[in-house]
Amino acid sequence: MPANESEGNVGPVDATKVPRFAGLPTFARLPRREDVDRCDVAVLGMPFDSGTSYRPGARFGPESIRAGSRLLRPYNPGLDVSPFETLQVADAGDLAINPFSIDDAITDIENGLEHVLQTSTRVITLGGDHTIALPILRVLNRRHGPIAVVHFDAHLDTWDTYFGARITHGTPFRRASEEGLLARGNCIHLGIRGPLYDRLDLSRDSDLGFMVRPASAMGEVHHDQILAEIRHRVGSWPVYVSVDIDVLDPGFAPGTGTPEPGGLTSRELLGLLRGLTGLPIIGADVVEVAPAYDHAEITALAAAHVTYELISLMALQADVPL
Ligand code: MN
Ligand code: MN
Repeated sequence: MPANESEGNVGPVDATKVPRFAGLPTFARLPRREDVDRCDVAVLGMPFDSGTSYRPGARFGPESIRAGSRLLRPYNPGLDVSPFETLQVADAGDLAINPFSIDDAITDIENGLEHVLQTSTRVITLGGDHTIALPILRVLNRRHGPIAVVHFDAHLDTWDTYFGARITHGTPFRRASEEGLLARGNCIHLGIRGPLYDRLDLSRDSDLGFMVRPASAMGEVHHDQILAEIRHRVGSWPVYVSVDIDVLDPGFAPGTGTPEPGGLTSRELLGLLRGLTGLPIIGADVVEVAPAYDHAEITALAAAHVTYELISLMALQADVPL
């Protein structure tokens, strides 16, 4: 049961008393997981980028998103909710993930997430490259059955292999579909763009259970229509929201591993996320933030706000049984 206000959730450090540039470097300056006796939403870092195919560096994503989150405030006017009052949100730190073996890393993530979920109702993950979505979906599937994925990304991430490797940041949703983790026919990619490897990539993606709303649709179709399509697509299945920060245009998120011109604005992405109210979101990730290529925290700030909107959505459906 989520706590209510009267139970006294521990919120962020008061920015009118402690400057935002001081204090614990937790997400949104929330308490650490070990500092609260219960937790509705754990923010969990997964510093892993050994599945990256181009620019490495997303292993430093969690710490940069936390730094970018220092300016978040407690009340979300866009959704009329104070997420940290409605829910006990806490920062569960980072998992220790093997950087030399992807197979061991997958095991580390599955075990680590299982452990966190023993004492936290839901988890939002800060990546890390997109490889981490596969072990997360395995764990959530064991708890919830087939999952409808709402996937924001420039890339399909349903390719088969790179250099013979089956588990990389370009393959998590193919593997998840093959393993039966997904509600096939109920998943959707948003923001897809850029050149593909093969004309057949899109039909193969469709065979795996996804539909595509490309980035080019964002300027042509009203957001309400796109949101209606998402709702229709996911039906009543448990929803996992996966946000690869490269869904944003490189002008709004330069700090990422595989940038593609022609992407969404931060305003478009945050607006779409706010439109997902009422969906039964069982988990979410924000991945592919690589601060070495960032400037003035542009990408980290965007990722922090994406995370905040996702937590706000969870706060609005705090009474959904999980
Ligand atoms: Mn991507
Ligand atoms: Mn991706």
